[in-house]
Amino acid sequence: MTIVRWAPSPTGRIHLGNARPALLNWFFARRKGGKYVLRMDDTDLARSTREFADGIEVDLAWLGITPDLLVRQSERTDLYDAARDRLIADGRLYPCYETAGELDRRRARARALGRPPIYDRAALKLTDEDRARLESEGRKPHWRFKLDGRPVQFEDLIKGPQTVNTASMSDPVLIREDGSYLYTLPSVVDDIDLAITHVIRGEDHVSNTGTQIEIIEALGGTVPIFAHHNLLTDAQGQGFSKRLGSQSLADFRDEGYEALAVAIMASITGTSLPVEPYASLDEIAERLDFSMISHGSARFDPVELDGLNARLLHAMSYEDALHRLTSLGLEGEAIWLSLRDNLTKFNDIKDLAKLITGPVEPVIADEDREFLALAKAMLPAEPWSIDTWSEWTGALKTTTGRKGKALFLPLRLALTGRHDGPELKSLLPLVGRTGCLDRLP
Ligand code: GLU
Repeated sequence: MTIVRWAPSPTGRIHLGNARPALLNWFFARRKGGKYVLRMDDTDLARSTREFADGIEVDLAWLGITPDLLVRQSERTDLYDAARDRLIADGRLYPCYETAGELDRRRARARALGRPPIYDRAALKLTDEDRARLESEGRKPHWRFKLDGRPVQFEDLIKGPQTVNTASMSDPVLIREDGSYLYTLPSVVDDIDLAITHVIRGEDHVSNTGTQIEIIEALGGTVPIFAHHNLLTDAQGQGFSKRLGSQSLADFRDEGYEALAVAIMASITGTSLPVEPYASLDEIAERLDFSMISHGSARFDPVELDGLNARLLHAMSYEDALHRLTSLGLEGEAIWLSLRDNLTKFNDIKDLAKLITGPVEPVIADEDREFLALAKAMLPAEPWSIDTWSEWTGALKTTTGRKGKALFLPLRLALTGRHDGPELKSLLPLVGRTGCLDRLP
């Protein structure tokens, strides 16, 4: 059974860059008939909040993803403590007492001597007496994992064969001075405990993967298959970031974008599939193979999102639009079919519907007044249909000799107050004869 997880840190509302792994994991699970775990990486108690975690659930549901299981790292500390104790017993986790300032100075010295600024493992040389003395001075240890220091190799489902040389890395800190866990160990413990088969995440995690494979092996776990995808950047090529206040999914929702448009942009950008309207996430899941994910960065284009959003609306069936139309008091298939081609965002329909219900501010040029008065007199009798427009304008053409723009534009400006907009043949029966009489001089 394929089991994947998406593991956001609830330290803010999620943005497009976060949505990408959320979706890529979902597609993979769907393709394989597997399970999707939503894991809240909330061990950083100072920055994580329940409110952000709840917001992530809402955003995920909006995108159309339904996790099979939700776990919170903050509720799984016993598991991490057990792993910690095992690593300590095996001599893989060791206490260190250096302050941040001391470490900075050592790094600076290493650089000055032309050496890589890697942690020198001085703490491994401390005796029991040294440690007792440091603790009596009030120092609390942080804990580092003792790396093997070797080329760790893995086959990445997206990037191909990878080697991370842990010999060029500092032993990573797994536990802070206050006893809280950094992301690295809980992530590994959960991946083992939840039997995660595939870890699909951003390529900014490749070097973590080297470290984490060593920890998994130290804990006797099975190493999952890894897939590191390219990162989404904004139009300027900058990475999305919660700290820098990147536009969140909730912002896109509030601005009236379709969830599917946002999901398509977040997942298809930076792949060889075209950005175009897909019917559903399932259709993308069927079509998107990891071999299609490009190795370069994936640049999000807001103009492309607008275009895509519009195209999704133009193709949307009445049934799919109905619940939202009802909430706006705009039921009626003819209304939807008449107006949808002019929508960029769904809620544009509120303004467009005024073309039907009024009020409309007719635009009437002096030189067209006479023509429009004649048009008014020649308005056909009801009942009106989709053919009324061509019957009416056909008769006007014969009578006045006007054609093309000279015939149509004055009518459009008088009836809608705008140069462009929905097709008049579909609009006319919706406005009705009385409505048209009101707008013509
Ligand atoms: N919480 C981590 C992040 O958001 C998870 C990384 C992972 O998938 O392991 O970067």
